[in-house]
Amino acid sequence: MRSPIAFTLGLALSVSTGALAAVEMPGSSYLQGLSWLGHASFRWEKEGTVIYMDPFQIDAAPHDGKIILISHSHFDHLDPESVMKVAADGAVVVAPADCIPKLREAGVQAEVKEIAPGQTLEVRGVRIEGVPAYNLDKDFHLKESGWVGFVVTVGRVRLYHAGDTDFIPEMEGLEPEVALLPVSGAYVMTASQAAAAAQAIRAKVTVPMHYGAIVGSEADARRLREEAGDRIIEILEKTVLPGEEDGS
Ligand SMILES: [Zn+2]
Repeated sequence: MRSPIAFTLGLALSVSTGALAAVEMPGSSYLQGLSWLGHASFRWEKEGTVIYMDPFQIDAAPHDGKIILISHSHFDHLDPESVMKVAADGAVVVAPADCIPKLREAGVQAEVKEIAPGQTLEVRGVRIEGVPAYNLDKDFHLKESGWVGFVVTVGRVRLYHAGDTDFIPEMEGLEPEVALLPVSGAYVMTASQAAAAAQAIRAKVTVPMHYGAIVGSEADARRLREEAGDRIIEILEKTVLPGEEDGS
């Protein structure tokens, strides 16, 4: 933690040299508005837009999500009950093709836009890129399934939610401000593999996910931090949405 005195001094020096704009934001400042809801589930409130990613096991019904991103059709990422609880009026759901009938069958009425790896959509002024997500040495997530991670751009912040994936070549040089990476092993990459992925992705700040619910523990999150070298790793506390009991 920087002391207030050092911060003020740094700021004063920056202003006096006219270099304020060039001052690098510390990595964690990019996480403003980002909440981890457990497993691979996040809420991101940025510039007046609320975006949910893989909402799962949501008890509350905030109905404030304007954009809902679903990485693939496994039950711990595609949870129609949670989608209906977080969706605001006029929400747009973005999901790979095979998710769409599952959402409809479960009664999700919201508009759904299909996305595939390599495809870019503009939804409510937010740029959403589908990034490949697949396994290399196991077959839970096949490249042919067309499942995705997302690079989401709001204002000047690019946030990468990797989905369920191993460390794949397409991650090289993504250079987002924020990267959310799975660490549990089993169905996705291990924490050590995520550390190598973090080095290749070169986000300003990297956040571990996909632990603490189905598979993986906080020890995996800490291992990512220990092994990620010069990368900034922030382990988020699980956020409980207003109106929700923390039963875990
Ligand atoms: Zn999966």
